[in-house]
Amino acid sequence: MTYRAEYLWIDGNEPVGEIRTKTKILKNDEEPPIWGFDGSSTNQATGDNSDVVLKPVFTCGDPVRGGDNILVLCETLLTRDLSPHPTNRRAECVAVYEKYKDQDPWFGMEQEYTLLDAITRWPAGFPTAGFPPPQGPYYCGVGAGRISGRELIEEHTTACIEAGLTIAGTNAEVMPGQWEFQIGPLDTVTVADHIWVARYLLFRLAEKHGIEVTIDPKPMLGDWNGAGMHTNVSTKSMREGYEPIIVACESLGMAGKPEEHLAGYGAGIEFRLTGEHETERYDQYSYGVSDRGASVRIPWQVARDGKGYIEDRRPNANADPYYVTTLLTRTICEALVGFD
Ligand code: ADP
Ligand code: MN
Ligand code: MN
Ligand code: MN
Repeated sequence: MTYRAEYLWIDGNEPVGEIRTKTKILKNDEEPPIWGFDGSSTNQATGDNSDVVLKPVFTCGDPVRGGDNILVLCETLLTRDLSPHPTNRRAECVAVYEKYKDQDPWFGMEQEYTLLDAITRWPAGFPTAGFPPPQGPYYCGVGAGRISGRELIEEHTTACIEAGLTIAGTNAEVMPGQWEFQIGPLDTVTVADHIWVARYLLFRLAEKHGIEVTIDPKPMLGDWNGAGMHTNVSTKSMREGYEPIIVACESLGMAGKPEEHLAGYGAGIEFRLTGEHETERYDQYSYGVSDRGASVRIPWQVARDGKGYIEDRRPNANADPYYVTTLLTRTICEALVGFD
């Protein structure tokens, strides 16, 4: 008897890496081995030296195929010495997590995305030749005049649960056809593994609905919110007291830090962080309690309880979650050394 392993990896597409996958048929007594692919077709190698190595790093059940079939998320390695491929952001993420593991960093990531009609490429719920009424009634709305694509969202949530991913919730967003799912809380590396597998499941399940899913941070210009990936973060000391919460907020505003973080928070971030539509401007750094116009929000319950987590509202929907959590772990945990 055999089963199927769907190997997933992140390609070298610029400026935003995308998921690629291929299928390996395995005998029932076989573990998914190291494998490879043609990197000249994914912007990861030249034709004369095209092989790139796939190293399995995270495995879960495949809810699309069911049965004994599995998904195998991989890191990409160079054939030369099996070192990380330059497009492999996970290897660095693991190294930073290992360095600060004793602070027990947790992340919850809110992945926003937009459903597009695969033919017209216009957002689901937008009339074919025009615009729907302005933002207001759609966020967490109900009813056919408010909501598009819910069947896919329900299928996706079920698939994430069946795969064993730590999905925390979902909601309809402020623009028609825009949705969100949350993953976490999980450590620096695992949250990003789960985000990538959840993205795969979303794109994969949308195929049969004739829906294209985009993580474009600004799919519609004009008076429509963009799509972000708000990233909630805490360490052990932040979950126990308020001073570390403030130290974490301040650390993100230190000289050079806002620029370093924005450079890793997704392509086109200046088009989304305009200072309008529940964002802070990309050239300002700010934090505040309950403030959805700040770069970093301290949730009101956290201020009330004097402990908890903070929300970095800046990452784009199209950011690489490995890089977002790498940057946040490095900056915050470095500032919190000695706070146990
Ligand atoms: P919002 O009010 O910004 O829409 P959400 O409910 O969408 O917030 O997302 C909040 C996220 O924060 C969830 O993924 C949740 O798992 C995560 N979270 C909760 N507590 C913590 C914590 N202590 N550290 C990190 N993340 C957390
Ligand atoms: Mn949310
Ligand atoms: Mn949201
Ligand atoms: Mn949020």
